[in-house]
Amino acid sequence: MNDQQLQRYSRHILLDEIGIDGQENLLAAHALVIGAGGLGSPVALYLASAGIGKITLVDDDDVDLTNLQRQIVHTTARVGQPKVDSAKQSLLQINPEVSVIGLRERADEDRLRALVSSATVVLDCTDNFATRHAINRACVAAGVPLVSGAAIRMDGQVAVFDSRSGETACYACLFPPDQQFDEVACSTMGVFAPLVGIIGTVQAAEALKLAAGVGESLANRLLLLDARSMEWTSIRTKRNADCPVCGKA
Ligand SMILES: [Zn+2]
Repeated sequence: MNDQQLQRYSRHILLDEIGIDGQENLLAAHALVIGAGGLGSPVALYLASAGIGKITLVDDDDVDLTNLQRQIVHTTARVGQPKVDSAKQSLLQINPEVSVIGLRERADEDRLRALVSSATVVLDCTDNFATRHAINRACVAAGVPLVSGAAIRMDGQVAVFDSRSGETACYACLFPPDQQFDEVACSTMGVFAPLVGIIGTVQAAEALKLAAGVGESLANRLLLLDARSMEWTSIRTKRNADCPVCGKA
């Protein structure tokens, strides 16, 4: 690290848990962030400010006026622009040293596998089950840890799925792909503005811990938040031996 970097990251370097080595790990890391909306906004902002060396953002959408209530990486002046371009501008204003790659696309299965294979950590900031399952399959196949977040109305959830250990649950262990869930997306439902900030910031914290090699991750726990009462519930999760994605079959 040069003098500028030592200053920029000094409050990380001062932490016993991170220090020079942990910060070097962050600078060498590549985070794949899928979705540049409500969750992707705080995720990308914190990963960039904290010095993740390379951030790849994937989103095929444009900034809309209805996004600005909660998608804090975007601005009024950038309504109509691709979200990945808008987000990239914000990230580089905070930290011009980060390499930000914006991919304006909806990644399919093959594309996800290619993108995930080069990532240190993957952050699922999307809002539909089909994409969540595709991201999970790619992460299990590549052995890359996945930090998953979801937020709708006043309810949020966050979890880490780390297939590297071979012992922790994957997304499909908890939410079987053949099970029918009511698809509720922010695009049609209400969502409390700071809820995506709270959940996205927990996702960023877990991704930074994984990339720096700090502490114990959320793996094998699902955190649920009811923002009405601001009550957090931690549920122990277990790997499903019959899981179609990570099970033996
Ligand atoms: Zn599984």
